[in-house]
Amino acid sequence: MAEHAIVAEGLRKRYGDDTQALDGFGLAVEPGTVHGLLGPNGAGKTTAVRALATLLRYDEGRAEICGFDVARRPEEVRARIGLTGQYAAVDEQLSGRQNLVMFGRLYKLRPREARRRAEELLERFGLTEAAGRSAGKYSGGMRRRLDLAASMILLPRVLFLDEPTTGLDPRSRNQVWDAVRSLVAEGTTVLLTTQYLEEADQLADRVSVIDAGRAVAEGTPDELKARIGGDRVEVVVRDVRELAEVAAILGRITGVPPLTDPDTRRVSAPAADRVAALTEAVRALHDAGTAIEDIGTRRPTLDEAFLRLTGHDTTAEKEEVAA
Ligand code: ATP
Repeated sequence: MAEHAIVAEGLRKRYGDDTQALDGFGLAVEPGTVHGLLGPNGAGKTTAVRALATLLRYDEGRAEICGFDVARRPEEVRARIGLTGQYAAVDEQLSGRQNLVMFGRLYKLRPREARRRAEELLERFGLTEAAGRSAGKYSGGMRRRLDLAASMILLPRVLFLDEPTTGLDPRSRNQVWDAVRSLVAEGTTVLLTTQYLEEADQLADRVSVIDAGRAVAEGTPDELKARIGGDRVEVVVRDVRELAEVAAILGRITGVPPLTDPDTRRVSAPAADRVAALTEAVRALHDAGTAIEDIGTRRPTLDEAFLRLTGHDTTAEKEEVAA
Protein backbone atom coordinates (compact mmCIF):
# COMPACT_ATOMS: atom_id res chain seq x y z
CA MET A 1 0.00 0.00 0.00
CA ALA A 2 2.98 2.31 0.52
CA GLU A 3 3.02 3.72 -3.01
CA HIS A 4 -0.33 5.41 -2.37
CA ALA A 5 -0.62 8.65 -0.42
CA ILE A 6 -4.08 7.70 0.85
CA VAL A 7 -5.58 4.22 1.14
CA ALA A 8 -8.84 3.12 2.72
CA GLU A 9 -10.32 -0.36 2.70
CA GLY A 10 -13.70 -1.44 3.99
CA LEU A 11 -14.18 1.52 6.36
CA ARG A 12 -17.32 1.34 8.44
CA LYS A 13 -18.65 3.96 10.83
CA ARG A 14 -21.99 3.96 12.58
CA TYR A 15 -23.53 6.88 14.46
CA GLY A 16 -25.97 5.75 17.12
CA ASP A 17 -28.20 2.81 16.28
CA ASP A 18 -29.35 3.49 12.75
CA THR A 19 -26.97 5.72 10.82
CA GLN A 20 -24.38 3.68 8.96
CA ALA A 21 -22.42 6.72 7.73
CA LEU A 22 -19.60 4.61 6.20
CA ASP A 23 -20.51 1.19 4.91
CA GLY A 24 -17.43 -0.42 3.40
CA PHE A 25 -15.85 2.76 2.02
CA GLY A 26 -12.58 2.35 0.14
CA LEU A 27 -10.24 4.30 -2.10
CA ALA A 28 -6.59 4.56 -3.16
CA VAL A 29 -4.98 7.87 -4.11
CA GLU A 30 -1.63 8.22 -5.85
CA PRO A 31 0.80 10.86 -4.57
CA GLY A 32 0.65 14.28 -6.22
CA THR A 33 -2.88 13.82 -7.55
CA VAL A 34 -6.31 15.22 -6.69
CA HIS A 35 -9.00 12.70 -5.80
CA GLY A 36 -12.60 13.91 -5.67
CA LEU A 37 -15.30 12.47 -3.41
CA LEU A 38 -18.54 13.32 -5.14
CA GLY A 39 -21.92 12.80 -3.57
CA PRO A 40 -25.06 14.45 -2.25
CA ASN A 41 -25.70 15.64 1.32
CA GLY A 42 -25.45 12.82 3.80
CA ALA A 43 -23.60 10.39 1.49
CA GLY A 44 -20.75 10.12 4.00
CA LYS A 45 -18.12 12.42 2.48
CA THR A 46 -17.37 14.42 5.61
CA THR A 47 -17.33 11.27 7.73
CA ALA A 48 -14.80 9.70 5.34
CA VAL A 49 -12.55 12.77 5.47
CA ARG A 50 -12.77 13.05 9.26
CA ALA A 51 -11.97 9.36 9.64
CA LEU A 52 -8.93 9.60 7.35
CA ALA A 53 -7.76 12.80 9.08
CA THR A 54 -7.76 11.06 12.53
CA LEU A 55 -10.61 13.25 13.82
CA LEU A 56 -13.01 10.34 14.08
CA ARG A 57 -12.51 6.68 14.93
CA TYR A 58 -13.85 4.26 12.37
CA ASP A 59 -15.43 1.04 13.64
CA GLU A 60 -13.95 -1.33 11.07
CA GLY A 61 -11.59 -1.34 8.11
CA ARG A 62 -8.13 -0.09 7.42
CA ALA A 63 -6.67 3.24 6.35
CA GLU A 64 -3.18 4.54 5.67
CA ILE A 65 -1.84 8.03 5.00
CA CYS A 66 1.69 8.15 3.51
CA GLY A 67 2.14 4.55 4.63
CA PHE A 68 1.08 5.17 8.27
CA ASP A 69 -1.89 3.35 9.72
CA VAL A 70 -4.49 5.98 10.65
CA ALA A 71 -5.83 4.15 13.72
CA ARG A 72 -2.47 3.00 15.09
CA ARG A 73 -0.18 5.91 14.20
CA PRO A 74 -2.42 9.00 14.35
CA GLU A 75 0.40 11.33 15.39
CA GLU A 76 2.48 10.35 12.33
CA VAL A 77 -0.57 10.92 10.16
CA ARG A 78 -1.33 14.31 11.73
CA ALA A 79 2.23 15.47 11.05
CA ARG A 80 1.64 14.90 7.34
CA ILE A 81 -1.84 16.26 6.72
CA GLY A 82 -3.65 19.56 6.40
CA LEU A 83 -7.37 20.03 6.65
CA THR A 84 -9.67 22.78 5.53
CA GLY A 85 -13.30 23.35 4.71
CA GLN A 86 -16.17 22.92 7.11
CA TYR A 87 -13.95 23.31 10.19
CA ALA A 88 -12.10 26.48 9.24
CA ALA A 89 -10.69 28.19 12.30
CA VAL A 90 -9.79 31.64 11.01
CA ASP A 91 -10.08 34.42 13.61
CA GLU A 92 -12.22 37.17 12.11
CA GLN A 93 -10.80 39.91 14.35
CA LEU A 94 -7.24 39.32 13.21
CA SER A 95 -5.83 40.35 9.85
CA GLY A 96 -5.01 37.75 7.23
CA ARG A 97 -1.32 38.12 8.04
CA GLN A 98 -1.88 37.86 11.82
CA ASN A 99 -3.99 34.74 11.32
CA LEU A 100 -1.23 32.99 9.39
CA VAL A 101 1.49 34.02 11.84
CA MET A 102 -0.72 32.78 14.69
CA PHE A 103 -1.17 29.39 12.98
CA GLY A 104 2.59 29.20 12.43
CA ARG A 105 3.17 29.85 16.13
CA LEU A 106 0.55 27.23 17.06
CA TYR A 107 2.51 24.80 14.95
CA LYS A 108 5.63 25.73 16.94
CA LEU A 109 7.44 27.72 14.26
CA ARG A 110 9.83 30.36 15.62
CA PRO A 111 8.43 33.93 15.31
CA ARG A 112 10.67 34.82 12.38
CA GLU A 113 9.95 31.58 10.57
CA ALA A 114 6.20 32.05 11.16
CA ARG A 115 6.33 35.56 9.69
CA ARG A 116 8.36 34.39 6.71
CA ARG A 117 5.97 31.53 6.02
CA ALA A 118 2.96 33.87 6.38
CA GLU A 119 4.37 36.28 3.74
CA GLU A 120 5.13 33.39 1.41
CA LEU A 121 1.59 32.02 1.68
CA LEU A 122 -0.07 35.45 1.37
CA GLU A 123 1.85 35.93 -1.86
CA ARG A 124 1.03 32.45 -3.15
CA PHE A 125 -2.69 32.85 -2.52
CA GLY A 126 -2.93 36.40 -3.87
CA LEU A 127 -3.67 37.92 -0.48
CA THR A 128 -0.65 40.22 -0.07
CA GLU A 129 -2.67 43.38 -0.73
CA ALA A 130 -5.39 42.39 1.74
CA ALA A 131 -2.92 41.03 4.31
CA GLY A 132 -3.44 43.92 6.77
CA ARG A 133 -7.26 43.85 6.67
CA SER A 134 -9.20 41.88 9.26
CA ALA A 135 -10.32 38.47 7.97
CA GLY A 136 -13.92 39.27 8.94
CA LYS A 137 -14.00 41.78 6.07
CA TYR A 138 -12.74 39.32 3.44
CA SER A 139 -14.95 38.16 0.58
CA GLY A 140 -15.97 34.48 0.53
CA GLY A 141 -13.24 33.62 -1.97
CA MET A 142 -10.53 35.46 -0.02
CA ARG A 143 -11.67 33.77 3.15
CA ARG A 144 -11.41 30.30 1.61
CA ARG A 145 -7.97 31.12 0.24
CA LEU A 146 -6.93 32.22 3.73
CA ASP A 147 -8.25 28.88 5.07
CA LEU A 148 -6.23 27.07 2.43
CA ALA A 149 -3.12 29.09 3.26
CA ALA A 150 -3.55 28.29 6.98
CA SER A 151 -3.77 24.57 6.24
CA MET A 152 -0.56 24.82 4.19
CA ILE A 153 1.65 26.32 6.93
CA LEU A 154 3.43 23.03 7.53
CA LEU A 155 3.57 21.97 3.85
CA PRO A 156 1.36 18.92 4.31
CA ARG A 157 1.96 15.94 2.08
CA VAL A 158 -1.78 15.28 2.05
CA LEU A 159 -4.43 17.97 2.13
CA PHE A 160 -8.12 17.30 2.86
CA LEU A 161 -10.51 19.86 1.41
CA ASP A 162 -14.11 19.44 2.54
CA GLU A 163 -16.40 21.26 0.11
CA PRO A 164 -13.90 24.08 -0.44
CA THR A 165 -16.14 26.14 -2.73
CA THR A 166 -19.68 25.50 -1.46
CA GLY A 167 -21.56 28.79 -1.51
CA LEU A 168 -18.93 30.72 -3.47
CA ASP A 169 -19.65 32.73 -6.61
CA PRO A 170 -18.01 31.55 -9.86
CA ARG A 171 -15.12 34.02 -9.66
CA SER A 172 -14.22 33.07 -6.09
CA ARG A 173 -14.59 29.42 -7.00
CA ASN A 174 -12.04 29.86 -9.80
CA GLN A 175 -9.62 31.54 -7.39
CA VAL A 176 -9.84 28.59 -5.01
CA TRP A 177 -9.40 26.13 -7.89
CA ASP A 178 -6.25 27.96 -9.00
CA ALA A 179 -4.89 27.84 -5.45
CA VAL A 180 -5.51 24.09 -5.27
CA ARG A 181 -3.83 23.54 -8.64
CA SER A 182 -0.74 25.43 -7.50
CA LEU A 183 -0.48 23.22 -4.39
CA VAL A 184 -0.77 20.06 -6.42
CA ALA A 185 1.87 21.29 -8.87
CA GLU A 186 4.27 21.23 -5.91
CA GLY A 187 3.49 17.64 -5.07
CA THR A 188 0.72 17.85 -2.45
CA THR A 189 -1.88 15.09 -2.66
CA VAL A 190 -5.43 16.40 -2.31
CA LEU A 191 -8.61 14.64 -1.25
CA LEU A 192 -11.51 16.91 -2.07
CA THR A 193 -15.18 16.47 -1.26
CA THR A 194 -17.70 18.20 -3.44
CA GLN A 195 -21.34 18.27 -4.43
CA TYR A 196 -20.46 19.77 -7.80
CA LEU A 197 -19.80 17.62 -10.85
CA GLU A 198 -18.03 20.56 -12.45
CA GLU A 199 -15.63 20.95 -9.55
CA ALA A 200 -14.66 17.29 -9.73
CA ASP A 201 -14.27 17.67 -13.48
CA GLN A 202 -12.05 20.77 -13.15
CA LEU A 203 -9.78 19.60 -10.36
CA ALA A 204 -9.77 15.88 -9.87
CA ASP A 205 -7.53 13.34 -11.59
CA ARG A 206 -9.88 10.62 -10.34
CA VAL A 207 -13.28 10.69 -8.70
CA SER A 208 -15.14 8.36 -6.35
CA VAL A 209 -18.90 8.70 -6.38
CA ILE A 210 -20.23 8.09 -2.86
CA ASP A 211 -23.65 6.79 -2.04
CA ALA A 212 -24.84 5.63 1.38
CA GLY A 213 -21.34 5.38 2.83
CA ARG A 214 -19.60 3.52 0.02
CA ALA A 215 -17.92 4.29 -3.28
CA VAL A 216 -20.31 3.17 -6.01
CA ALA A 217 -18.22 4.32 -8.98
CA GLU A 218 -14.61 5.32 -9.47
CA GLY A 219 -12.67 6.64 -12.44
CA THR A 220 -11.32 9.69 -14.22
CA PRO A 221 -13.86 12.47 -14.78
CA ASP A 222 -13.93 11.51 -18.48
CA GLU A 223 -14.64 7.87 -17.71
CA LEU A 224 -17.44 8.82 -15.34
CA LYS A 225 -18.91 11.30 -17.79
CA ALA A 226 -18.90 8.60 -20.44
CA ARG A 227 -20.85 6.36 -18.05
CA ILE A 228 -23.20 9.17 -17.08
CA GLY A 229 -23.71 10.03 -20.72
CA GLY A 230 -22.03 13.44 -20.96
CA ASP A 231 -24.08 16.35 -22.28
CA ARG A 232 -27.83 16.09 -22.68
CA VAL A 233 -30.30 17.42 -25.19
CA GLU A 234 -33.38 18.76 -23.43
CA VAL A 235 -36.75 19.74 -24.86
CA VAL A 236 -39.64 21.44 -23.08
CA VAL A 237 -42.96 20.90 -24.89
CA ARG A 238 -45.89 23.35 -24.78
CA ASP A 239 -48.48 20.64 -24.42
CA VAL A 240 -47.82 17.72 -22.09
CA ARG A 241 -49.81 15.42 -24.45
CA GLU A 242 -46.94 15.68 -26.94
CA LEU A 243 -44.40 14.43 -24.43
CA ALA A 244 -44.45 10.81 -25.60
CA GLU A 245 -44.05 11.72 -29.27
CA VAL A 246 -41.13 14.04 -28.51
CA ALA A 247 -39.54 11.34 -26.35
CA ALA A 248 -39.80 8.90 -29.24
CA ILE A 249 -38.12 11.38 -31.61
CA LEU A 250 -35.31 12.19 -29.15
CA GLY A 251 -34.83 8.50 -28.43
CA ARG A 252 -34.44 7.78 -32.15
CA ILE A 253 -31.86 10.53 -32.56
CA THR A 254 -29.73 9.78 -29.49
CA GLY A 255 -30.21 6.02 -29.44
CA VAL A 256 -31.00 6.16 -25.69
CA PRO A 257 -34.43 6.03 -24.01
CA PRO A 258 -34.98 9.64 -22.80
CA LEU A 259 -36.08 10.69 -19.32
CA THR A 260 -39.46 12.42 -19.29
CA ASP A 261 -40.93 14.63 -16.59
CA PRO A 262 -44.62 15.48 -17.08
CA ASP A 263 -44.57 18.07 -14.27
CA THR A 264 -42.05 20.29 -16.03
CA ARG A 265 -43.02 19.01 -19.54
CA ARG A 266 -39.39 18.09 -20.12
CA VAL A 267 -37.75 15.35 -22.16
CA SER A 268 -33.99 14.84 -21.99
CA ALA A 269 -31.51 12.34 -23.35
CA PRO A 270 -27.72 12.02 -23.27
CA ALA A 271 -25.99 12.94 -26.53
CA ALA A 272 -22.44 11.99 -27.48
CA ASP A 273 -22.29 14.79 -30.09
CA ARG A 274 -24.52 17.46 -28.65
CA VAL A 275 -24.41 19.88 -31.58
CA ALA A 276 -25.33 17.18 -34.09
CA ALA A 277 -28.06 15.83 -31.81
CA LEU A 278 -29.48 19.31 -31.18
CA THR A 279 -29.50 20.18 -34.89
CA GLU A 280 -31.19 16.94 -35.78
CA ALA A 281 -33.73 17.30 -32.97
CA VAL A 282 -34.71 20.84 -34.05
CA ARG A 283 -35.25 19.62 -37.62
CA ALA A 284 -37.18 16.48 -36.65
CA LEU A 285 -39.44 18.30 -34.18
CA HIS A 286 -40.12 21.01 -36.74
CA ASP A 287 -40.99 18.37 -39.37
CA ALA A 288 -43.31 16.66 -36.86
CA GLY A 289 -45.06 19.97 -36.20
CA THR A 290 -44.49 19.79 -32.43
CA ALA A 291 -44.95 22.98 -30.41
CA ILE A 292 -41.74 23.50 -28.45
CA GLU A 293 -41.30 25.94 -25.61
CA ASP A 294 -37.57 25.45 -25.21
CA ILE A 295 -34.76 23.31 -26.56
CA GLY A 296 -31.06 23.21 -25.74
CA THR A 297 -28.11 21.24 -24.46
CA ARG A 298 -26.77 21.13 -20.94
CA ARG A 299 -24.41 19.21 -18.68
CA PRO A 300 -25.91 16.43 -16.59
CA THR A 301 -26.85 17.46 -13.06
CA LEU A 302 -25.60 15.62 -10.01
CA ASP A 303 -29.10 14.14 -9.69
CA GLU A 304 -28.93 12.64 -13.17
CA ALA A 305 -25.40 11.37 -12.63
CA PHE A 306 -26.60 9.66 -9.49
CA LEU A 307 -29.62 8.19 -11.11
CA ARG A 308 -27.45 6.58 -13.77
CA LEU A 309 -24.69 5.39 -11.46
CA THR A 310 -26.77 4.21 -8.52
CA GLY A 311 -30.23 3.57 -9.94
CA HIS A 312 -31.83 6.02 -7.50
CA ASP A 313 -31.82 9.78 -7.22
CA THR A 314 -30.10 11.93 -4.62
CA THR A 315 -33.28 12.49 -2.62
CA ALA A 316 -34.19 8.83 -2.03
CA GLU A 317 -32.43 8.66 1.34
CA LYS A 318 -34.00 11.84 2.65
CA GLU A 319 -37.48 10.74 1.63
CA GLU A 320 -37.04 7.45 3.45
CA VAL A 321 -36.00 9.34 6.55
CA ALA A 322 -38.95 11.72 6.24
CA ALA A 323 -41.45 8.89 5.67
P1 ATP B 1 -22.72 16.88 3.69
O1 ATP B 1 -22.48 17.22 2.27
O2 ATP B 1 -24.06 17.29 4.18
O3 ATP B 1 -21.59 17.23 4.61
P2 ATP B 1 -21.72 14.19 3.71
O4 ATP B 1 -21.72 13.41 2.47
O5 ATP B 1 -20.46 14.82 4.13
O6 ATP B 1 -22.86 15.26 3.67
P3 ATP B 1 -21.77 13.05 6.35
O7 ATP B 1 -21.74 14.40 7.00
O8 ATP B 1 -20.55 12.23 6.38
O9 ATP B 1 -22.25 13.18 4.84
O10 ATP B 1 -22.98 12.24 6.97
C1 ATP B 1 -23.28 10.88 6.68
C2 ATP B 1 -24.45 10.44 7.52
O11 ATP B 1 -24.10 10.41 8.89
C3 ATP B 1 -25.66 11.34 7.42
O12 ATP B 1 -26.82 10.55 7.48
C4 ATP B 1 -25.55 12.22 8.66
O13 ATP B 1 -26.82 12.66 9.06
C5 ATP B 1 -24.93 11.28 9.65
N1 ATP B 1 -24.07 11.97 10.65
C6 ATP B 1 -23.00 12.74 10.38
N2 ATP B 1 -22.40 13.16 11.53
C7 ATP B 1 -23.13 12.63 12.55
C8 ATP B 1 -23.03 12.69 13.98
N3 ATP B 1 -22.05 13.37 14.58
N4 ATP B 1 -23.98 12.04 14.70
C9 ATP B 1 -24.96 11.34 14.10
N5 ATP B 1 -25.11 11.23 12.76
C10 ATP B 1 -24.21 11.87 11.98
